[in-house]
Amino acid sequence: MIDLHCHSAASDGTDQPSELVHNAVAAGLTTMAITDHDTTGGWDEAADAVRRLTVDFTLIRGAEFSCAYRGPDGELVSLHLLGYLFDPADAGLKGERVRLLNDRLGRGEAIVNNLIAAGYPIRWRRVREIADGGAVGRPHIGQALVEAGVVSDVQNAFAELLSSDSPYYVPKADSEVLTMIELIRAAGGVAVIAHPWARRRERILTEQAIRELVGAGLAGIEVDHIDHTPEDRARLRALAAELKVFTTGSSDYHGTRKTVKLAAETTDRQCLQEILSQAHGVEPVYSASAG
Ligand code: AMP
Ligand code: ZN
Ligand code: FE
Ligand code: FE
Repeated sequence: MIDLHCHSAASDGTDQPSELVHNAVAAGLTTMAITDHDTTGGWDEAADAVRRLTVDFTLIRGAEFSCAYRGPDGELVSLHLLGYLFDPADAGLKGERVRLLNDRLGRGEAIVNNLIAAGYPIRWRRVREIADGGAVGRPHIGQALVEAGVVSDVQNAFAELLSSDSPYYVPKADSEVLTMIELIRAAGGVAVIAHPWARRRERILTEQAIRELVGAGLAGIEVDHIDHTPEDRARLRALAAELKVFTTGSSDYHGTRKTVKLAAETTDRQCLQEILSQAHGVEPVYSASAG
């Protein structure tokens, strides 16, 4: 079983990278991608854990980049781009990761300041502690709001205070998606669009926009995802066939910050082979007993 989209505590998941690997094995996975938001911070710990495994296991090192697409009408659509097996030392992509991570800090603090100004008893320092050196995101602010007794859980924090239509919301300075596809490819990686039609987003990409991204080098579409309806999946699968790109399925696991379980959605072996044949930035990490 292959799951190509999982978060660790290097961003807004709750499992440390080594725990993520062990939980993946326990869930029956044989291949897992670690795809934290805008960071490779969990790669080394996850790789060390995989090398020590005594079962067959393959780690795909990746990340989930925050991007924006500017449509023909000038409107911005935010989207997530999965990059797999890119060279972490590549200067172009590294520069963009650093920029995104710094922006997450400033933007997180701005959201917290908005909440403080409205009288909510939270502290930026506590949010930083919760993120513990990882890429800061709204789920960390949500946890601080839960701890402060403002809301009962992170879901409610989003619903009441953190959503993009909340008065306290501050957007991120996302990467331009066509540039990001180029950067991932230039670093030897493979670009796959994550959950393109997840419904909680107010604006989503049109089929025409997805065609444009494929024209720019997008290699695959994440079709099987908890936020896609059966109709979404059928249409995306047909689009992928038309555009001759592969489709993936993944859990988008976040530990206890979301209810979805590892291996809830999976990718077939042929698609993994496509990713492996297209990538040349960094090797997969194999456990000692992997074939
Ligand atoms: P950010 O990257 O800071 O904009 O935060 C977005 C992250 O929050 C994504 O990884 C989502 O998985 C998570 N998220 C978005 N909406 C919700 C929600 N309603 N409940 C819990 N987590 C959410
Ligand atoms: Zn997340
Ligand atoms: Fe995402
Ligand atoms: Fe994700």
